[in-house]
Amino acid sequence: MPGDGGQIHQEDVSRETSPQASPSIPARKGPRRVLHELDEFDTPPEPNDDVSRETSPRVARVLPPPRATTRIVVANQKGGVGKTTTVVNLAAALAGGGLSVLVIDCDPQGNASTALGAEHELGTPGTYEVLLEQTPIDQVEVASTEPGSLWVVPATIDLAAAELELVAASGRENRLKRAIDRHLTRHDVDVVLFDCPPSLGLLTLNALVAADEILIPIQCEYYALEGVTQLMRTINLVKGGLNDELKLGTVLLTMYDGRTKLSQQVAEEVRTHFPEQTLPTMIPRSVRIAEAPSYGTTVLGYEPSSAGALAYRQAAEELARRLAR
Ligand code: ADP
Ligand code: MG
Repeated sequence: MPGDGGQIHQEDVSRETSPQASPSIPARKGPRRVLHELDEFDTPPEPNDDVSRETSPRVARVLPPPRATTRIVVANQKGGVGKTTTVVNLAAALAGGGLSVLVIDCDPQGNASTALGAEHELGTPGTYEVLLEQTPIDQVEVASTEPGSLWVVPATIDLAAAELELVAASGRENRLKRAIDRHLTRHDVDVVLFDCPPSLGLLTLNALVAADEILIPIQCEYYALEGVTQLMRTINLVKGGLNDELKLGTVLLTMYDGRTKLSQQVAEEVRTHFPEQTLPTMIPRSVRIAEAPSYGTTVLGYEPSSAGALAYRQAAEELARRLAR
């Protein structure tokens, strides 16, 4: 039922009570959601204070929750392959399907923050404060303007300095992991998604150390696999001591253009290399996907019935079903 993620209760999307305007107020005011059972995913939840947050609009739970909280780092040191686009649209689709999602923006550009409607001008507390001042995540996270339980730790341009400042910091590779570990002892989150800058520096390293698994977006173009070889080397370095458990969970083919032979060839080659990890759904090249961020939203909010929105909902469903197994 690939289209089911679209059954978002649009009339419920207002976030008038959202704490996003004031990051100093603890963001989570509502009763904490109780852990849900695996077999109840296709039943829309009853309005029930025990299972919903005051501050979140209700959405139908159409996706199965994961067996355990899963932290997914979306990485590829190549720029422009669709990392940020994938983070924000998967996050919106998972939250739209009823899961509780936290996005950590680790890219100083803050593009994920923009697309999810999280303010991130200079001075806004966010990932920088979490990494360098050990500010708890629940003091800087803000509610996304997208429907569902979707929270964002924004990135400002300050974060560019963190790459250097971290070099001299103690436990420099583990700072994000420690912050998330602490956060998850107190808050019920199904999926944490990290958006990374296009480099393999300390910001990406912190996300790789904090994550359970990696999702690599691969653009369907020539040389697509070349950068991936370097990324695999980095993953193996991280596994050798910093995060032994890290695994390659998902490969997502992006900007697929079925009319070109090149796209088809790259897709085939990637599937041969990563037969288990590559999602069946490919994200098509679509103008709507590229336009959405300039309206401060995802393609799911901008054009919910477009091919791009359908593809991301379908990819989110495939991901959710694997995490639930
Ligand atoms: P990255 O985070 O890897 O640098 P982005 O997600 O920012 O990549 O994508 C790079 C550019 O390509 C952006 O302008 C984005 O809007 C555009 N883009 C991403 N995915 C698609 C797609 N499927 N179709 C068309 N444009 C896309
Ligand atoms: Mg990006």
